[in-house]
Amino acid sequence: MTLRTTATIALLMLLICSITFSHAQQTRIYGTVLDQTTGMALDSALVNIRVTENGQNFFAFTNSSGQWEYTLQFSGVADREQVPTSFLLRQNYPNPFNPSTRIPFTIARAGEVTISVYNVLGQELDSRRAFVTPGNYFIDWNSRGGSGVLFYSIEMENERHTRKMLQLDGGKSSGLGQILRGASGAEAMSLAKTDAPTAVVTASKLGYEPDSSATDLGEDNQVDFQLELLHTKAFVVDLHNDVLEKVVDRGYQLGVRHSYNHSDIPRFFEGGVDAQMFVVWVNPNAYLSISYQKALQFFDAFDNQVALNSTKIAQARTTDDIFQINAQNKLAGVLVVEGGHVIENDLEKLKELYRRGMRYLTITWNNSTNWATSAEDSRSTTRGLSDFGKQVIRMLDSLGVIIDVSHVGIKTIEDILATTQYPIIASHSGVRALRNHYRNLYDNQIVAIANSGGVIGVVFYPYFLASSGTTTINTVIKHIDYIVNLVGIDHVAIGSDYDGIGSTPVGLEDVSKLPDLTLALLKHGYSNAEVKKILGENFLRVFQQVCQ
Ligand SMILES: [Zn+2]
Repeated sequence: MTLRTTATIALLMLLICSITFSHAQQTRIYGTVLDQTTGMALDSALVNIRVTENGQNFFAFTNSSGQWEYTLQFSGVADREQVPTSFLLRQNYPNPFNPSTRIPFTIARAGEVTISVYNVLGQELDSRRAFVTPGNYFIDWNSRGGSGVLFYSIEMENERHTRKMLQLDGGKSSGLGQILRGASGAEAMSLAKTDAPTAVVTASKLGYEPDSSATDLGEDNQVDFQLELLHTKAFVVDLHNDVLEKVVDRGYQLGVRHSYNHSDIPRFFEGGVDAQMFVVWVNPNAYLSISYQKALQFFDAFDNQVALNSTKIAQARTTDDIFQINAQNKLAGVLVVEGGHVIENDLEKLKELYRRGMRYLTITWNNSTNWATSAEDSRSTTRGLSDFGKQVIRMLDSLGVIIDVSHVGIKTIEDILATTQYPIIASHSGVRALRNHYRNLYDNQIVAIANSGGVIGVVFYPYFLASSGTTTINTVIKHIDYIVNLVGIDHVAIGSDYDGIGSTPVGLEDVSKLPDLTLALLKHGYSNAEVKKILGENFLRVFQQVCQ
C-alpha cells in the first residue's frame, strides 16, 4: 500500500466519521427501579422507552442494583450492542387476514432456545428448539383447532417467559413453523436533528404493577421508578372461610398468629386479603334442632373477635364499607351463612340474619331441606325448590343477599335461576369436567352462573380438584383456566374453603400463601388486569350489584 493510498483512506475515514458525527445525536437515559414497599432494588425489570414522535420502542433491563441505562442514537446507524441482557419476547398481534400468528423475539446471548405453544389447560400443542446467535428472530404459529386463547413461551437457559396469544380460525393447522432470522437489530430512529424528542418510559416486572413516566430527551436523563406488587395493589377477596367454627367451638383467637389451622388475622394480612367472607355453618348432624340459635352464636363470636381486634378488622355489609375499612388498613369481614336449614323455615329468622350482616346464603349444605335439595341428595336432578323455597329466593332478592349454589342440587339451581333477578355465585366449587364430584359444576351450570352475571369461587380442596396425584397451585389454576376458557375472565374468583378443608394444595398451605397464587397466575400468562379480576374485582362487581 502506498503512502498516498493510505492517506486517501485516512481522509475518507475522517470524512465518513465527520459525516456520521455531524448527524449523530446521542441521549443517555438511565435510572433505578425499586420495590415501593421495601425499597429494595428490582433485578431484571424491563424498561421500555417509547419515543413519542415516531412510536419506536427501545428496551433495557435493570441489573442486580436495580439500575438501567440506554443510549439512544438518533443517527440511523444500527446499534447492535443494545440488545437486552438475556432475551426479549414481544407480544404478538392477531391478523384477521392471515390466521397465522407471528411471534417475534430478540436473543441477546448465543444458546439453545425453545418455543412452545400451550392451550389454556396447559397442554403443550407444539414446540420448536434451535441453537441461535444474538439477533432478532421470529416463528409463525399456524392455528390448530378453533379460535381462542393460547399461550406461547420462550425458554433459554434457566429463563422462561410466557405470553397470551389470540388464535383465529382458518389457519394451515400445521402448528409452529421454523425459527427464522428476523430484521437486523437496527432500531435507530430517523428524527431530524432539530427535533427535541420526548419519550414515555415504562418500567415493568412480573408480579408488579407497571408504572410510566413521560420525559423530555435531553443529553442526560434520569427516570426512577418505585413499583408496587400487584398482589398488594389488587383487591383480594376470598369467598369462603370456615375459621369461625373454630372460634365458636374451640375458643380459637383470630388476633394471634398460629402454626396450625389455615387462618388468623396476622396471616390474612400476610396473604394480602382485603375482604374475607366468614362462614356461619351449623353442622346439621349435631345441631339441626337448634340451627338458628347456633348460627347466632357464630355472629356473636365474630362480633367478639372484631371487638378484641378493632384496629385490625371490621365488619362490612356493603362495598363502600369494604373500601372504608381497607382505607384504615383493616381487613373487611363479611358474614355469610352456609345451609338453608339455619332459617328453620321462618322468613323472620332470615330477615334477622340479614340484619346481623349475612350477605350470602348458601341455599343448602350437603343436607336437603324440605324446600331445597342438596347436590349430594339422590333426588338432586328431579326435586327443586318448593313454593316456600321460591319465597326464600324472592326474600333474598328483596333484602340484597347473594344466592350461593355451592352444595346445591341440579334441579334446585335451575329453579333458583328461574326465580332470582340477580347474579348468583358458587362460593367454593370446582369444575366437574376436571374432577367428577357432586360438589363440582357441570359446564352448563358454569355457563348459567356466568349468564346470570355471577362468579364461581374456585375451591382449594385437593379432593375436589383432582381424583389422584399431588395437588398444587397449578391444579387450582387448571380449574380457573377451564372456567375462563368456557365463559371468559369475568366469572371466576377464589373460594378457598380454608379451615373447612382437611388438606390443601402444595404451595397454598394457608391463607398467607395467596400472593404465590398471584405470581403463579402471572407466570401462567394471565395479564395484570386479568389477575385482578380473578383475585377480587369479579366478586366485587356481584357484591355491589346485589348488596347495595
Ligand atoms: Zn361448604
